[in-house]
Amino acid sequence: MSRVPVHLQKFIRAKEVPDGKVWRAHWAIRPETGFKKEYLSMVWAMEMANALPAFGAKARHSSKVSQRHLAAMQGVRRETVNRRIAVISSPSGCKSETREKLSELARCRAQAQGKMLRNGQKRSLRYVGEFLHRSRGWGESLMYTQVNAGDRPVHTKGKGSMGDKTAHAKILADAFGENNFDPTVHANGYKVIDGLLWHPDLPDPQDCDCVNGQLTLNNQECPKCGGSGTVFRDSLPDFGRVLASHLILKGIKEENRDQGKAKNCLEVTQQRLADELGMDVNTIAKYERKLEALMIIRIVPGDVHRDASGSITKRDPHKILWILDKLLDEQIADREATRYATACRQAQQKGHDEAAIGRATAIFRDLLRSWIGREHSLQAFYNEMRRRLASAGVPSELAGCLFPLAKE
Ligand SMILES: [Zn+2]
Repeated sequence: MSRVPVHLQKFIRAKEVPDGKVWRAHWAIRPETGFKKEYLSMVWAMEMANALPAFGAKARHSSKVSQRHLAAMQGVRRETVNRRIAVISSPSGCKSETREKLSELARCRAQAQGKMLRNGQKRSLRYVGEFLHRSRGWGESLMYTQVNAGDRPVHTKGKGSMGDKTAHAKILADAFGENNFDPTVHANGYKVIDGLLWHPDLPDPQDCDCVNGQLTLNNQECPKCGGSGTVFRDSLPDFGRVLASHLILKGIKEENRDQGKAKNCLEVTQQRLADELGMDVNTIAKYERKLEALMIIRIVPGDVHRDASGSITKRDPHKILWILDKLLDEQIADREATRYATACRQAQQKGHDEAAIGRATAIFRDLLRSWIGREHSLQAFYNEMRRRLASAGVPSELAGCLFPLAKE
């Protein structure tokens, strides 16, 4: 489970949503298939929904998920999902007669269970998990159980322990052909992805009509967007979700071991991201803006170098900061206020100076109130509190007692 930040709870009506694990190896699909971004969206959504068995798990541990739900998770229409499943399931041409038979089978079974059916309902009976089981080609092998037991991905700790950094890409290339999957891609392992990134209710930030010029209003007076120029509606389209998941798989949430680089940060060009996902640079830029509007990431543009004539010679990669976990929201603030009250009582019991505790509390209230909803981690808050307490002459023993050097 992971927390839904307060600013997104308006749309995703939950405080927490379940997370999922996705497999990096899907990166190995070749962009030449012309289907890379769609493939990634489809298989990662299925993994998030547990419609494909988890890494190395038995097929029966997966759940049946309707195409309607998979479409909602990707913010696309159900017809789009149907089409994509058809591409993944039967590149070798699963005959339509076969499909008709399968469909008929499901229909008979449903009728035997006493369900009333109209013709149009035929399709809704097909669950993806089941569908992929039965169809031939990719679909069947995509169940990892079809891969030779010895080749099945194994979860190993530590980076070098597996030796071969292309081991997982090779599994897919062996099973589905090197024309579809590149066996030389470094794509071992899987990562936990925040459930909200594939939540059907994650909204799509769009330009407001006042920006498009369809309303003859001054931006400031726009009742729809309140002057921000952005409205949140519908469901974030698939490629935004793919991009966000891709950033996590690339390690954006991890601490950067290289010195001098911030945590929760990736330095990468838009072109590189575009190549890695089989997307267009403009698509990357568009979805970066949307993820920024959702306060999931923040972009720091790279420097542009020009020669004497003013033409561009080089563009530095831009920085992407992952800010989703770094917002000090009301929930965190409430918890922190409770923790602080307890720490105060303990400080009093230990005989710390009452006046100094009073001064510390006033500073605490001010700072907490002014930081709510802004991009700060609790750790940054503690650091700033310690700094302010020191400059206000609060004894360091008391400061240490109120703000222990604890993890968030
Ligand atoms: Zn507006």
